[in-house]
Amino acid sequence: MTEVRVRFPPSPTGYLHIGGARTALLNWLWARKNNGKLILRIEDTDAERSTNASIEGIIDGMTWLGLDWDEGPYFQTEFSENHIQAARQLLESGHAYKCFCTKEKLDKKRAAALAARQDVRYDGTCRNLSPEQILEKEAQGIPSVIRFKVPEKTGVVSYDDKVLGTIERAYSDIEDFVIVRSNGKPLYLLCNVVDDIRDRISHIIRGQDHMTNTTRQVLLYQALGAQVPVFAHMPLTLDLQKKKISKRSHGEIVSVQFYREKGFLPWALCNFLVLLGWNPGTDQEIFSRQELIEAFTLERISKVNSIFNYQKGNAKFFTDPKLIAMNEHYLRTMDISRLGALVKKELIAENLWDKTYDDDKRDWYLATLDLIRDRFHTLKDFTSAGRAYFSDDYEIQAKPLKKNILKHPDLKTWLPMLGKRLAKLTDFNEEEVERVSRELAAELEIKPGILINGMRTVLTGQLAGPSMFAILPVLGKDKVVARLGNIDHLYND
Ligand code: GLU
Repeated sequence: MTEVRVRFPPSPTGYLHIGGARTALLNWLWARKNNGKLILRIEDTDAERSTNASIEGIIDGMTWLGLDWDEGPYFQTEFSENHIQAARQLLESGHAYKCFCTKEKLDKKRAAALAARQDVRYDGTCRNLSPEQILEKEAQGIPSVIRFKVPEKTGVVSYDDKVLGTIERAYSDIEDFVIVRSNGKPLYLLCNVVDDIRDRISHIIRGQDHMTNTTRQVLLYQALGAQVPVFAHMPLTLDLQKKKISKRSHGEIVSVQFYREKGFLPWALCNFLVLLGWNPGTDQEIFSRQELIEAFTLERISKVNSIFNYQKGNAKFFTDPKLIAMNEHYLRTMDISRLGALVKKELIAENLWDKTYDDDKRDWYLATLDLIRDRFHTLKDFTSAGRAYFSDDYEIQAKPLKKNILKHPDLKTWLPMLGKRLAKLTDFNEEEVERVSRELAAELEIKPGILINGMRTVLTGQLAGPSMFAILPVLGKDKVVARLGNIDHLYND
């Protein structure tokens, strides 16, 4: 069997977005599954729109997602000589010809054909010029483009698409398309094929939006005497209004960087993305890298477009609820030391990192993460909702303040009283703190909930969280007692 060689060839005209990342992921999976190679090729022929920032963004995004490539990045512009050479080869072998028709002339013919409701495609005027006629026109300095000479055959050009089955198009339906502009620049359609031949690409896995090119590209492969690769065209990713997701119309919310900044885990995003356009044929939704590599097949790429439901999401994130659910799943189940390393970066960025978390307090650090991660959605929650575990400078949220503190003015004395009793405990463990709290509630003849909710608000600033009695030992006696004793300001501010 020939080696599996796939490519991810983004045009560097913007950030790496959800759709591009999904294409990269599927190619990566196919390469890894087959012990093949993934080639990263930057298709930078559009000089005006390509930027270095975009190239960096693509490379950073792929690296962050863990989609490692085996060759490249190659830059399409570095191979322009190849592209020109291929056009020459097509001219010499009679698969292409020079066309001297001016734009004005073509426009006029097109308008006339439109008016008469006739075929608007190129009429083949220059298709059969003699070598003398060509020389004469060149001597007169008339500029020319190079057109591909679509074989005058009846029947169809076809290719076997791994997702969609046999795709065909009648020869008579394809006009003699331009492959080199009058300024000598080869068109993208040709460059893309020449690069894929040079890179010995065996499978082209790309969006269905490229299908308009594919039959013409198949003709180019044949004319260049190269083997036609296997194609697998993926459905598109649409928004809820069924509009194709694109960097230009959807802005940052569809960029990979956005999810990174919002604290999503790279594999959670990959796991979410793969299901946008592929299914395993079972109910399984959560896949480890290895499981996904094993389960992945081109045939199970879906045929219909998928919806990236980002508008309906939880208002907090404004993204697809399924993506949030995936992220929560991985946050809550991933290896705790790996999580520790990721949260460390977040804490450092917020100036909340203490180096003892790496040595003396490592057990405490990991146990704390393990306790609080159960309610968190993203890595950002560790420094926002989880801030009180790492700093004394944290915000008491308005809702619990009103509901759990201000509504019960007596807590002003009850909570410091509770603090004093807790201070006396020698074993500051979950059972003991619970016993002391419940005893005080009974003495005061109030519902334990009043004390517990008040305590949660003062100690963590949050309305909800892990079991309150489990939180106390994690925070430690000193912090608990100090915080419970210092609540007057909550009533005064
Ligand atoms: N450069 C093209 C793009 O960014 C990819 C073309 C292809 O996959 O053949 O859409």
